Amino acid sequence: MTRTIPPAPRHIALVAHDTMKVELLRWAAHNRETLSQHVLYATGTTGTMLEYELGLPVHRFMSGPVGGDQQIGARIAEGGITVLVFFWDPLEAQPHDPDVKALLRIGTVWNVPMACNVASADMMIASRLLLGGYENRRPDLTPREWDETGERPV
Ligand code: PGA
Repeated sequence: MTRTIPPAPRHIALVAHDTMKVELLRWAAHNRETLSQHVLYATGTTGTMLEYELGLPVHRFMSGPVGGDQQIGARIAEGGITVLVFFWDPLEAQPHDPDVKALLRIGTVWNVPMACNVASADMMIASRLLLGGYENRRPDLTPREWDETGERPV
């Protein structure tokens, strides 16, 4: 069984590692018009830079390495964030590598569209599905009920 979430506006989280921030800012500036139609979220430093660059409100979580990635992951699990643009650095180890992996994992678990490089982000932002006609299917992962023996799902 799956549950659906309404299409627009999307709740888009944007995260970039330090070496990827310029790339994300450039991409976001280029797509400002489209992004302005959605609700934006970001990790701390990325969010501050995006607000300055775009002049749009961005809900800022903590900085990624001190909990921001996990906050975004939690929102994804709750259904409050429905799209992830995550420019992580594939060439450098991060002090918060476990959090990076966890965010990518939870986005996959909850069937959230994720773009991890410019080409994917370009295609995602240009998709007609972003504004309507497509509802993310969220897996129903609520715990199962078990019979009184504890051996069989009801
Ligand atoms: P930052 O975090 O936006 O606070 O730099 C990004 C990250 O490393 O996840």
